[in-house]
Amino acid sequence: MKIHEYQARQILKNFDVPVPVAEVASSPEEARKIAEEIGGKIWAVKSQIHAGGRGKGGGVKLARSLEDVSNLSRLMIGSRLVTKQTGPAGAPVSKVLVQRGLDIVQEFYVGFLIDRKLQRPVLIASAEGGMEIEKVAAQFPEKIIKTVIDPVAGLSVPEALEVATRLDVPADIAGDCAEVLRKLWNTFVSMDCSLLEINPLIVTSDKKVYPLDVKMTFDDNALLRHPELEELHDPEQEDPTELRAHKAGLQYIQLNGNIACLVNGAGLAMATMDTIKLFGGEPDNFLDIGGGASPEKVTAAFEIMLAQPEVKVILVNIFGGIMKCDVIAEGIVEACRHVKLSVPLIVRMKGTHEKEGKEILKNSGLPIISADSLGDAAQKAVEMAAEK
Ligand code: GDP
Ligand code: MG
Repeated sequence: MKIHEYQARQILKNFDVPVPVAEVASSPEEARKIAEEIGGKIWAVKSQIHAGGRGKGGGVKLARSLEDVSNLSRLMIGSRLVTKQTGPAGAPVSKVLVQRGLDIVQEFYVGFLIDRKLQRPVLIASAEGGMEIEKVAAQFPEKIIKTVIDPVAGLSVPEALEVATRLDVPADIAGDCAEVLRKLWNTFVSMDCSLLEINPLIVTSDKKVYPLDVKMTFDDNALLRHPELEELHDPEQEDPTELRAHKAGLQYIQLNGNIACLVNGAGLAMATMDTIKLFGGEPDNFLDIGGGASPEKVTAAFEIMLAQPEVKVILVNIFGGIMKCDVIAEGIVEACRHVKLSVPLIVRMKGTHEKEGKEILKNSGLPIISADSLGDAAQKAVEMAAEK
Protein backbone atom coordinates (compact mmCIF):
# COMPACT_ATOMS: atom_id res chain seq x y z
CA MET A 1 0.00 0.00 0.00
CA LYS A 2 1.26 3.43 -0.97
CA ILE A 3 0.49 6.72 0.75
CA HIS A 4 1.03 10.38 -0.04
CA GLU A 5 4.10 12.34 0.94
CA TYR A 6 2.15 14.55 3.36
CA GLN A 7 0.83 11.46 5.14
CA ALA A 8 4.27 9.89 5.28
CA ARG A 9 5.69 13.07 6.79
CA GLN A 10 3.09 12.85 9.56
CA ILE A 11 4.16 9.28 10.30
CA LEU A 12 7.81 10.35 10.40
CA LYS A 13 6.81 13.06 12.89
CA ASN A 14 5.21 10.40 15.07
CA PHE A 15 8.60 8.71 15.17
CA ASP A 16 10.30 11.93 16.18
CA VAL A 17 12.02 12.50 12.82
CA PRO A 18 12.51 16.26 12.29
CA VAL A 19 10.49 17.24 9.20
CA PRO A 20 10.35 20.66 7.48
CA VAL A 21 7.42 22.92 8.33
CA ALA A 22 4.64 22.16 5.86
CA GLU A 23 0.87 21.71 5.53
CA VAL A 24 -1.35 20.14 2.92
CA ALA A 25 -3.94 22.16 0.97
CA SER A 26 -6.90 21.24 -1.22
CA SER A 27 -7.43 24.68 -2.82
CA PRO A 28 -5.27 27.62 -3.98
CA GLU A 29 -6.81 29.82 -1.24
CA GLU A 30 -5.94 27.30 1.43
CA ALA A 31 -2.42 26.94 0.02
CA ARG A 32 -1.91 30.70 0.19
CA LYS A 33 -3.19 30.84 3.75
CA ILE A 34 -0.81 28.07 4.78
CA ALA A 35 2.15 29.85 3.17
CA GLU A 36 1.21 33.02 5.02
CA GLU A 37 1.03 31.18 8.34
CA ILE A 38 4.26 29.29 7.74
CA GLY A 39 6.00 32.54 6.88
CA GLY A 40 9.28 33.01 5.02
CA LYS A 41 10.05 34.18 1.50
CA ILE A 42 10.18 30.97 -0.48
CA TRP A 43 7.85 27.99 -0.43
CA ALA A 44 7.95 24.65 -2.18
CA VAL A 45 4.57 23.73 -3.67
CA LYS A 46 4.39 19.97 -4.20
CA SER A 47 1.73 17.96 -6.03
CA GLN A 48 0.60 14.98 -3.97
CA ILE A 49 0.48 11.81 -6.06
CA HIS A 50 1.57 8.24 -5.40
CA ALA A 51 4.58 8.48 -7.70
CA GLY A 52 7.99 10.05 -7.83
CA GLY A 53 9.70 12.09 -10.51
CA ARG A 54 7.33 14.97 -9.75
CA GLY A 55 10.04 17.64 -9.88
CA LYS A 56 11.01 16.78 -13.48
CA GLY A 57 7.34 16.48 -14.46
CA GLY A 58 6.59 20.01 -13.23
CA GLY A 59 4.79 18.86 -10.09
CA VAL A 60 7.19 20.47 -7.59
CA LYS A 61 7.82 24.21 -7.90
CA LEU A 62 9.34 26.94 -5.81
CA ALA A 63 7.14 29.98 -5.13
CA ARG A 64 8.67 33.35 -4.35
CA SER A 65 5.49 35.16 -3.30
CA LEU A 66 2.10 34.33 -1.77
CA GLU A 67 0.62 35.11 -5.18
CA ASP A 68 2.96 32.51 -6.68
CA VAL A 69 1.83 29.94 -4.13
CA SER A 70 -1.83 30.32 -5.06
CA ASN A 71 -1.10 30.49 -8.81
CA LEU A 72 1.03 27.35 -8.77
CA SER A 73 -1.52 25.54 -6.60
CA ARG A 74 -4.29 26.53 -9.00
CA LEU A 75 -2.35 24.98 -11.89
CA MET A 76 -1.61 21.80 -9.96
CA ILE A 77 -4.85 21.05 -8.11
CA GLY A 78 -7.35 19.33 -10.37
CA SER A 79 -4.77 18.50 -13.02
CA ARG A 80 -3.20 15.18 -13.89
CA LEU A 81 0.52 14.98 -13.36
CA VAL A 82 2.55 12.87 -15.76
CA THR A 83 5.94 11.70 -14.51
CA LYS A 84 8.31 8.94 -15.49
CA GLN A 85 6.67 6.73 -12.88
CA THR A 86 2.98 7.37 -13.64
CA GLY A 87 2.76 6.26 -17.26
CA PRO A 88 1.26 8.49 -19.97
CA ALA A 89 -2.15 8.82 -18.27
CA GLY A 90 -0.61 10.50 -15.23
CA ALA A 91 -2.11 10.65 -11.74
CA PRO A 92 -4.75 13.06 -10.45
CA VAL A 93 -3.58 15.86 -8.15
CA SER A 94 -6.17 16.83 -5.57
CA LYS A 95 -3.85 18.21 -2.91
CA VAL A 96 -0.59 20.14 -2.73
CA LEU A 97 1.89 20.27 0.09
CA VAL A 98 3.09 23.76 0.91
CA GLN A 99 6.47 23.70 2.59
CA ARG A 100 8.69 26.46 3.82
CA GLY A 101 11.58 26.74 1.35
CA LEU A 102 14.87 25.52 2.69
CA ASP A 103 18.40 26.55 1.87
CA ILE A 104 19.93 23.26 0.77
CA VAL A 105 23.67 22.67 1.12
CA GLN A 106 23.82 18.91 0.59
CA GLU A 107 21.35 16.38 -0.86
CA PHE A 108 21.54 12.62 -0.35
CA TYR A 109 19.61 9.57 -1.37
CA VAL A 110 18.56 7.34 1.54
CA GLY A 111 16.37 4.27 1.18
CA PHE A 112 15.40 1.42 3.47
CA LEU A 113 14.09 -1.69 1.77
CA ILE A 114 14.17 -5.47 1.88
CA ASP A 115 16.92 -7.21 -0.03
CA ARG A 116 15.18 -10.42 -1.03
CA LYS A 117 18.37 -12.21 -2.00
CA LEU A 118 20.01 -11.48 1.33
CA GLN A 119 16.72 -11.86 3.21
CA ARG A 120 17.65 -8.79 5.20
CA PRO A 121 16.60 -5.17 5.39
CA VAL A 122 19.17 -2.87 3.85
CA LEU A 123 19.95 0.82 3.95
CA ILE A 124 20.98 2.21 0.59
CA ALA A 125 22.60 5.65 0.67
CA SER A 126 24.29 7.81 -1.88
CA ALA A 127 25.77 11.28 -1.94
CA GLU A 128 24.18 11.74 -5.36
CA GLY A 129 20.90 13.01 -3.92
CA GLY A 130 18.14 14.16 -6.21
CA MET A 131 19.51 11.98 -9.00
CA GLU A 132 17.60 8.79 -9.86
CA ILE A 133 19.14 6.06 -7.76
CA GLU A 134 18.81 3.54 -10.59
CA LYS A 135 21.05 5.75 -12.73
CA VAL A 136 23.61 6.14 -9.95
CA ALA A 137 23.65 2.36 -9.43
CA ALA A 138 24.17 1.78 -13.16
CA GLN A 139 26.74 4.50 -13.81
CA PHE A 140 28.62 4.86 -10.52
CA PRO A 141 28.07 1.68 -8.50
CA GLU A 142 30.94 2.72 -6.22
CA LYS A 143 28.82 5.66 -5.04
CA ILE A 144 26.18 3.40 -3.54
CA ILE A 145 26.63 2.75 0.16
CA LYS A 146 24.83 -0.44 1.13
CA THR A 147 24.42 -1.39 4.78
CA VAL A 148 22.88 -4.76 5.59
CA ILE A 149 20.84 -4.42 8.76
CA ASP A 150 20.39 -7.11 11.38
CA PRO A 151 16.59 -7.15 11.73
CA VAL A 152 16.74 -7.89 15.45
CA ALA A 153 19.55 -5.56 16.52
CA GLY A 154 18.48 -2.82 14.10
CA LEU A 155 20.66 -0.07 12.66
CA SER A 156 23.36 0.52 15.27
CA VAL A 157 24.90 3.89 16.16
CA PRO A 158 28.30 2.97 14.67
CA GLU A 159 26.67 1.74 11.46
CA ALA A 160 24.60 4.93 11.12
CA LEU A 161 27.65 7.07 11.86
CA GLU A 162 29.66 5.27 9.23
CA VAL A 163 26.99 5.98 6.62
CA ALA A 164 26.88 9.67 7.64
CA THR A 165 30.67 9.89 7.40
CA ARG A 166 30.79 8.17 4.02
CA LEU A 167 28.12 10.61 2.79
CA ASP A 168 30.56 13.38 3.69
CA VAL A 169 28.23 15.06 6.16
CA PRO A 170 30.22 17.74 8.07
CA ALA A 171 31.76 16.15 11.18
CA ASP A 172 29.84 18.38 13.61
CA ILE A 173 26.46 17.14 12.36
CA ALA A 174 27.35 13.53 11.54
CA GLY A 175 25.82 12.58 14.91
CA ASP A 176 22.54 14.35 14.04
CA CYS A 177 22.47 12.66 10.64
CA ALA A 178 23.09 9.25 12.22
CA GLU A 179 20.24 9.88 14.65
CA VAL A 180 17.88 10.74 11.80
CA LEU A 181 18.94 7.54 10.00
CA ARG A 182 18.22 5.49 13.14
CA LYS A 183 14.80 7.12 13.54
CA LEU A 184 14.05 6.38 9.89
CA TRP A 185 15.01 2.75 10.48
CA ASN A 186 12.74 2.68 13.51
CA THR A 187 9.86 4.00 11.38
CA PHE A 188 10.60 1.49 8.63
CA VAL A 189 10.57 -1.53 10.92
CA SER A 190 7.78 -0.40 13.27
CA MET A 191 5.42 0.43 10.42
CA ASP A 192 6.21 -2.74 8.43
CA CYS A 193 7.31 -0.72 5.42
CA SER A 194 8.43 -2.47 2.29
CA LEU A 195 10.09 0.79 1.24
CA LEU A 196 11.03 4.01 2.99
CA GLU A 197 12.79 6.26 0.53
CA ILE A 198 14.06 9.73 1.31
CA ASN A 199 15.25 11.43 -1.87
CA PRO A 200 16.64 13.83 -0.98
CA LEU A 201 17.70 13.83 2.63
CA ILE A 202 19.17 17.30 2.99
CA VAL A 203 21.56 19.34 5.09
CA THR A 204 20.55 23.01 5.26
CA SER A 205 22.78 26.08 5.56
CA ASP A 206 21.84 26.27 9.24
CA LYS A 207 23.13 22.71 9.65
CA LYS A 208 19.87 20.86 10.05
CA VAL A 209 19.20 17.42 8.60
CA TYR A 210 15.75 16.95 7.05
CA PRO A 211 13.96 14.47 4.86
CA LEU A 212 12.75 16.69 2.00
CA ASP A 213 10.86 14.03 0.10
CA VAL A 214 9.33 10.85 1.52
CA LYS A 215 8.09 7.76 -0.23
CA MET A 216 6.59 5.24 2.17
CA THR A 217 5.13 1.91 1.05
CA PHE A 218 3.70 -0.67 3.42
CA ASP A 219 3.85 -4.42 3.17
CA ASP A 220 0.22 -5.34 2.42
CA ASN A 221 0.60 -8.58 4.34
CA ALA A 222 1.26 -6.61 7.53
CA LEU A 223 -1.64 -4.16 7.19
CA LEU A 224 -3.69 -6.11 9.71
CA ARG A 225 -1.21 -4.89 12.32
CA HIS A 226 -1.87 -1.26 11.35
CA PRO A 227 -5.63 -0.72 11.11
CA GLU A 228 -4.99 3.03 11.46
CA LEU A 229 -3.49 3.08 7.97
CA GLU A 230 -6.82 2.17 6.39
CA GLU A 231 -7.97 5.78 6.32
CA LEU A 232 -4.80 6.87 4.48
CA HIS A 233 -5.77 4.77 1.49
CA ASP A 234 -6.43 6.94 -1.58
CA PRO A 235 -8.26 4.86 -4.23
CA GLU A 236 -8.02 7.80 -6.69
CA GLN A 237 -4.33 7.04 -7.12
CA GLU A 238 -4.85 3.43 -8.10
CA ASP A 239 -5.26 1.88 -11.51
CA PRO A 240 -9.08 1.95 -11.97
CA THR A 241 -9.14 -1.54 -13.48
CA GLU A 242 -7.14 -3.04 -10.62
CA LEU A 243 -9.35 -1.24 -8.11
CA ARG A 244 -12.51 -2.63 -9.69
CA ALA A 245 -11.01 -6.13 -9.76
CA HIS A 246 -10.00 -5.98 -6.10
CA LYS A 247 -13.49 -4.84 -5.17
CA ALA A 248 -14.85 -7.91 -6.96
CA GLY A 249 -12.50 -10.08 -4.90
CA LEU A 250 -10.13 -10.89 -7.77
CA GLN A 251 -6.36 -10.94 -7.63
CA TYR A 252 -5.64 -8.79 -10.67
CA ILE A 253 -2.58 -7.06 -12.05
CA GLN A 254 -2.74 -5.04 -15.24
CA LEU A 255 -0.01 -5.86 -17.76
CA ASN A 256 0.82 -4.55 -21.22
CA GLY A 257 -0.05 -7.37 -23.64
CA ASN A 258 -3.20 -8.29 -25.57
CA ILE A 259 -4.08 -11.78 -24.30
CA ALA A 260 -6.41 -11.58 -21.30
CA CYS A 261 -6.14 -14.50 -18.87
CA LEU A 262 -8.60 -15.91 -16.39
CA VAL A 263 -7.05 -18.61 -14.23
CA ASN A 264 -7.73 -20.25 -10.88
CA GLY A 265 -4.68 -20.22 -8.62
CA ALA A 266 -1.74 -17.84 -8.58
CA GLY A 267 0.80 -20.50 -9.56
CA LEU A 268 -1.27 -21.67 -12.51
CA ALA A 269 -1.82 -18.03 -13.52
CA MET A 270 1.93 -17.46 -13.58
CA ALA A 271 2.50 -20.69 -15.53
CA THR A 272 -0.17 -19.54 -18.00
CA MET A 273 1.57 -16.21 -18.52
CA ASP A 274 4.92 -18.00 -18.96
CA THR A 275 3.43 -20.32 -21.55
CA ILE A 276 1.91 -17.40 -23.47
CA LYS A 277 5.32 -15.76 -23.52
CA LEU A 278 6.96 -19.02 -24.55
CA PHE A 279 4.87 -18.97 -27.73
CA GLY A 280 5.78 -15.34 -28.37
CA GLY A 281 2.64 -13.67 -26.99
CA GLU A 282 2.09 -11.08 -24.27
CA PRO A 283 -0.44 -11.45 -21.43
CA ASP A 284 -2.65 -8.42 -20.78
CA ASN A 285 -3.18 -9.24 -17.14
CA PHE A 286 -2.60 -11.57 -14.27
CA LEU A 287 -5.95 -12.75 -12.95
CA ASP A 288 -6.39 -15.32 -10.23
CA ILE A 289 -10.08 -15.95 -9.72
CA GLY A 290 -9.39 -17.93 -6.56
CA GLY A 291 -10.98 -21.02 -5.12
CA GLY A 292 -14.66 -20.40 -4.55
CA ALA A 293 -15.40 -18.40 -7.67
CA SER A 294 -19.11 -17.62 -8.02
CA PRO A 295 -20.78 -16.85 -11.38
CA GLU A 296 -20.81 -13.18 -10.24
CA LYS A 297 -17.05 -13.24 -9.83
CA VAL A 298 -16.57 -14.83 -13.24
CA THR A 299 -18.89 -12.22 -14.77
CA ALA A 300 -16.94 -9.39 -13.11
CA ALA A 301 -13.71 -10.89 -14.46
CA PHE A 302 -15.12 -11.04 -17.99
CA GLU A 303 -16.41 -7.48 -17.78
CA ILE A 304 -13.00 -6.26 -16.67
CA MET A 305 -11.11 -8.16 -19.37
CA LEU A 306 -13.51 -7.11 -22.14
CA ALA A 307 -13.31 -3.47 -21.10
CA GLN A 308 -9.64 -3.39 -22.13
CA PRO A 309 -9.59 -2.17 -25.74
CA GLU A 310 -6.21 -3.79 -26.41
CA VAL A 311 -7.45 -7.31 -25.60
CA LYS A 312 -7.56 -9.49 -28.72
CA VAL A 313 -8.36 -12.86 -27.17
CA ILE A 314 -9.36 -14.32 -23.79
CA LEU A 315 -7.70 -17.43 -22.46
CA VAL A 316 -9.40 -19.27 -19.61
CA ASN A 317 -7.28 -21.89 -17.90
CA ILE A 318 -8.97 -23.84 -15.12
CA PHE A 319 -7.73 -26.70 -13.07
CA GLY A 320 -10.70 -28.28 -11.36
CA GLY A 321 -9.64 -29.30 -7.89
CA ILE A 322 -11.76 -27.92 -5.11
CA MET A 323 -13.27 -25.73 -7.79
CA LYS A 324 -15.29 -27.93 -10.11
CA CYS A 325 -15.12 -27.52 -13.88
CA ASP A 326 -18.90 -27.56 -14.30
CA VAL A 327 -19.32 -24.68 -11.83
CA ILE A 328 -16.76 -22.61 -13.72
CA ALA A 329 -18.35 -23.57 -17.05
CA GLU A 330 -21.72 -22.36 -15.78
CA GLY A 331 -20.05 -19.15 -14.65
CA ILE A 332 -18.50 -18.64 -18.08
CA VAL A 333 -21.81 -19.23 -19.87
CA GLU A 334 -23.61 -16.94 -17.45
CA ALA A 335 -20.95 -14.23 -17.86
CA CYS A 336 -21.12 -14.44 -21.66
CA ARG A 337 -24.88 -13.89 -21.49
CA HIS A 338 -24.33 -10.71 -19.49
CA VAL A 339 -21.46 -9.23 -21.43
CA LYS A 340 -21.06 -9.13 -25.17
CA LEU A 341 -18.21 -11.42 -26.08
CA SER A 342 -16.36 -9.34 -28.65
CA VAL A 343 -13.15 -11.39 -28.90
CA PRO A 344 -12.39 -15.12 -29.30
CA LEU A 345 -12.58 -17.14 -26.09
CA ILE A 346 -10.31 -20.13 -25.59
CA VAL A 347 -11.02 -22.44 -22.67
CA ARG A 348 -8.76 -25.09 -21.29
CA MET A 349 -10.28 -27.13 -18.51
CA LYS A 350 -8.93 -30.10 -16.59
CA GLY A 351 -9.82 -31.97 -13.44
CA THR A 352 -12.92 -32.56 -11.37
CA HIS A 353 -16.16 -32.69 -13.40
CA GLU A 354 -14.20 -31.91 -16.56
CA LYS A 355 -16.59 -33.86 -18.78
CA GLU A 356 -19.65 -32.08 -17.38
CA GLY A 357 -17.93 -28.72 -17.74
CA LYS A 358 -17.05 -29.31 -21.37
CA GLU A 359 -20.62 -30.48 -22.03
CA ILE A 360 -22.01 -27.23 -20.60
CA LEU A 361 -19.71 -25.14 -22.78
CA LYS A 362 -20.55 -27.19 -25.87
CA ASN A 363 -24.30 -26.99 -25.30
CA SER A 364 -24.24 -23.27 -24.63
CA GLY A 365 -24.01 -22.44 -28.32
CA LEU A 366 -21.30 -19.91 -27.54
CA PRO A 367 -18.35 -19.71 -29.95
CA ILE A 368 -15.92 -21.12 -27.42
CA ILE A 369 -12.70 -22.68 -28.64
CA SER A 370 -11.78 -25.68 -26.56
CA ALA A 371 -8.17 -26.59 -25.93
CA ASP A 372 -6.83 -29.73 -24.39
CA SER A 373 -3.46 -28.81 -22.99
CA LEU A 374 -2.06 -25.54 -21.68
CA GLY A 375 0.44 -25.51 -24.53
CA ASP A 376 -2.33 -25.98 -27.07
CA ALA A 377 -4.42 -23.22 -25.46
CA ALA A 378 -1.55 -20.75 -25.27
CA GLN A 379 -0.45 -21.42 -28.83
CA LYS A 380 -3.99 -20.87 -30.13
CA ALA A 381 -4.28 -17.65 -28.11
CA VAL A 382 -0.98 -16.30 -29.43
CA GLU A 383 -1.95 -17.13 -33.03
CA MET A 384 -5.34 -15.46 -32.69
CA ALA A 385 -3.91 -12.38 -30.99
CA ALA A 386 -1.48 -11.98 -33.89
CA GLU A 387 -4.15 -12.50 -36.56
CA LYS A 388 -6.33 -9.47 -35.90
P1 GDP B 1 10.21 14.18 -6.67
O1 GDP B 1 10.66 14.88 -7.92
O2 GDP B 1 8.86 13.52 -6.84
O3 GDP B 1 11.24 13.24 -6.16
O4 GDP B 1 9.95 15.34 -5.59
P2 GDP B 1 10.93 15.99 -4.51
O5 GDP B 1 10.15 16.21 -3.30
O6 GDP B 1 12.19 15.23 -4.36
O7 GDP B 1 11.24 17.42 -5.14
C1 GDP B 1 12.02 17.57 -6.30
C2 GDP B 1 13.15 18.55 -6.08
O8 GDP B 1 12.65 19.83 -5.72
C3 GDP B 1 14.07 18.16 -4.92
O9 GDP B 1 15.02 17.21 -5.28
C4 GDP B 1 14.70 19.50 -4.58
O10 GDP B 1 15.84 19.71 -5.37
C5 GDP B 1 13.62 20.53 -4.96
N1 GDP B 1 13.03 21.11 -3.74
C6 GDP B 1 11.99 20.67 -3.04
N2 GDP B 1 11.77 21.44 -1.95
C7 GDP B 1 12.74 22.40 -1.97
C8 GDP B 1 13.11 23.48 -1.09
O11 GDP B 1 12.51 23.74 -0.06
N3 GDP B 1 14.18 24.24 -1.47
C9 GDP B 1 14.88 24.00 -2.59
N4 GDP B 1 15.92 24.78 -2.90
N5 GDP B 1 14.58 22.98 -3.42
C10 GDP B 1 13.54 22.19 -3.12
MG1 MG C 1 12.41 13.10 -4.63
